Amino acid sequence: MAQNLDPQDALSSRSSGLFGSFMLLIVVLFIMGAVLSGGEAPATAVAIANTPTAESNVLATVANTPTIAPTATVTNSPTPTQTPSPTATATATQTPTPSITPNPLWTATATLPPTATLPPPPLPTPQDGISTTVRIPILMYHYISVPPKDADVYRVDLSVTPDNFRAQMQYLAENGHTPIDFYTLSRAITNHEPLPPKPVILTFDDGYLDNYETAYPILQEFGFVGTFFIPTEFIDNNRAGYMNWLMIEEMAAAGHRFEPHSRTHPDLRARENDYLIWEILGPQETLAAHIGYAPRYFAYPSGRYDDSVLLMMQRLDFWGAVTTVAGADLGFENRFTWPRLRIRNNTPLGEFIDLVNLQFEE
Ligand SMILES: [Zn+2]
Repeated sequence: MAQNLDPQDALSSRSSGLFGSFMLLIVVLFIMGAVLSGGEAPATAVAIANTPTAESNVLATVANTPTIAPTATVTNSPTPTQTPSPTATATATQTPTPSITPNPLWTATATLPPTATLPPPPLPTPQDGISTTVRIPILMYHYISVPPKDADVYRVDLSVTPDNFRAQMQYLAENGHTPIDFYTLSRAITNHEPLPPKPVILTFDDGYLDNYETAYPILQEFGFVGTFFIPTEFIDNNRAGYMNWLMIEEMAAAGHRFEPHSRTHPDLRARENDYLIWEILGPQETLAAHIGYAPRYFAYPSGRYDDSVLLMMQRLDFWGAVTTVAGADLGFENRFTWPRLRIRNNTPLGEFIDLVNLQFEE
């Protein structure tokens, strides 16, 4: 090919047309040579082919910006480049990106009493990127019954007698405390929605039968909402001493909340992702089939979790989760590790009063 490039040939040519044809031939031969030798010609071709699409993308985003700018908030317009998050599929659905469109559905539900028939509202994210941290006691109950005579120390400690439970609810009612659910809590934290006076959250772990037989009628008597964390396989198997699905459906229809407490109540630490999906997503779907909406809050069995569990909470679009750590500061940032206050068998009413009035040491 070297001789084709000899300048001597070009100089000796008199006809410019002939010269042009000759140069074209040289170019064609050059490209063919490059292709046959496996050189850089294909790469160049690819690069050239890519350029127009890349440019058209740029043009597309530029063209879009003016139409978005007037309607969107000011903070949204400079950040179109950050929307594709690094972990594409998992986080894309739930990342709290600044898509803070005020949702009419969400505000509409706020004025209604909690019922099981409401459609699941969208994930609450902090409005204007600002979340509120509130200080609200989340009380943690297990059994509401007199423990049997042969009960071990754990069973005794987890049991609040019906009389004590009633006295505690009576105190709340007479002193202007207002039980709320976690959905109301999330709206207060993210949307700055006003809370009722002296809010408190009543949680009941494990789905024991006395929750239906004893706690439920007392809650109804005072018009209080309870949140019940259920290990769903115990219910599926009609395990003795636990509620059944008919009871749960009845309580859910009365406005009480049912949230997953795993499927089989295992230690969730150091587990494979498939196992976590089985134990976390599974009971969420089971409960949804019975109560009519996807529950959004989780209680870690025995309060145990690790980083994989926390990540799974985020991936499965949970809105919050509770631990067994003592405390009452509830915010958006710590929404998967919200603390609670344990009510024990030997918690005297005076101590209960201190707890719900946030007079305690963490
Ligand atoms: Zn439990």
